[in-house]
Amino acid sequence: MRLGTDDAKRRAETSGQDEVRRANVSTVLRLVHFGGAKTRSEIVAATGLNRSTVGALTAELVRLGLIRERRGEVVGKGRPSNVVEPVSQSVYVLAFDITAGEVAAARVGLGGYLLQVRRRLHQGPVQDVAGVVDHLAMLVREMRAKAAPGSLCLGVVVSVPASVRQPDGLVRRSPSLGWYEAPLVVMLAAALGHELPVAAGNDGDLGAVAEYLRGAARGSRDVLYIRGQDGIGGGVIVDGELLKGAGGYAGELGHIVVRPEGRHCACGARGCWEAETGDSAIIRAFGRNPHDSDIEDVIADVATGSRRALSGVRKTGEIVGLGLATLMNIFNPDTVVLGGSFGSLFPTMEPTLHAAVARALGPIREQATLVRSELGSDAQLIGAAEVAFADVLDHPVRTIEALLAVATPNAAESNIKAIRATS
Ligand SMILES: [Zn+2]
Repeated sequence: MRLGTDDAKRRAETSGQDEVRRANVSTVLRLVHFGGAKTRSEIVAATGLNRSTVGALTAELVRLGLIRERRGEVVGKGRPSNVVEPVSQSVYVLAFDITAGEVAAARVGLGGYLLQVRRRLHQGPVQDVAGVVDHLAMLVREMRAKAAPGSLCLGVVVSVPASVRQPDGLVRRSPSLGWYEAPLVVMLAAALGHELPVAAGNDGDLGAVAEYLRGAARGSRDVLYIRGQDGIGGGVIVDGELLKGAGGYAGELGHIVVRPEGRHCACGARGCWEAETGDSAIIRAFGRNPHDSDIEDVIADVATGSRRALSGVRKTGEIVGLGLATLMNIFNPDTVVLGGSFGSLFPTMEPTLHAAVARALGPIREQATLVRSELGSDAQLIGAAEVAFADVLDHPVRTIEALLAVATPNAAESNIKAIRATS
């Protein structure tokens, strides 16, 4: 997946006229999808294209219903520059984030807008893959029914705390869900009657992508993202590219060993980072029982300032920091983003976290900024949506015309008008 607004121009230089036009339409759409409303003058400055070319490109995107133009305000002398913005209701993705406790679902519109969010407890045991798939299919139908008339669904993308094989979305292993070799994507596509493209991704990878594109790591090139949950979800971005590894499973950061004699981990080893700092370990460190308390209780304990709670925070911060120091030495990130439980506890754990991270090598430590997730529990939904936005961003004309041909074989133009009328 290409991330952000990079490299379309570079590709265009090496290819024919149609390819140049496709790349330019794509570049303008990426600018407003990732950067929000822009004046035409700003697009001219950002792309290096001339004014009349930008006018033709925005006209094409208006025709497709993907953007709208309105008059800008007059600043100083001369004519105002038109403002171009994404039509969030034109196309959307249905994004899901499955954790051991719940299913989060969102309809995410062009521009990355969360048009609708639902958070639901699992209807049955989370280990029952077929039951979870039925629940997802029901939420898909519910959210599609709420979408604006004429808007187009680009697909369904599911975030799971799991090693996910690409491109078929087979969940190889997810200790926290109890899923092993589960054909999630195949099952969900079938439950939806093969009407929509379906994909799945690792929660840490999708969180990293979201924070890089739209959150706390905007403007960074090298990002380390961790999400505290039942385990630790991790994602690594190296020079603007998501690190995948040979099989797409890179970034399983939770299983570095931080205490060789420590707790047993679901992976079979002992003292893994996630066994020592996952939600259950945090709850125990606070003197609570994981069977009758959850991470929200811990956060409430911190707010009361109890001594036991503060000591729990200190301990957790230290172990989180020890793992981070090792990872920073390997990846030399400029930004380290802490999400999930680590994001919630970040302000209180900061002192011991920083003290432990100080073990990273000096030149590496100096370059890295530790920050709290900006997107919080929405990060996985936003990252998942970007997977399905990739086609329309790369090939706006081809993708929209193909979708319209399927949705309304004889009424492509009237459908575009319907989208524009409702925007
Ligand atoms: Zn482990």
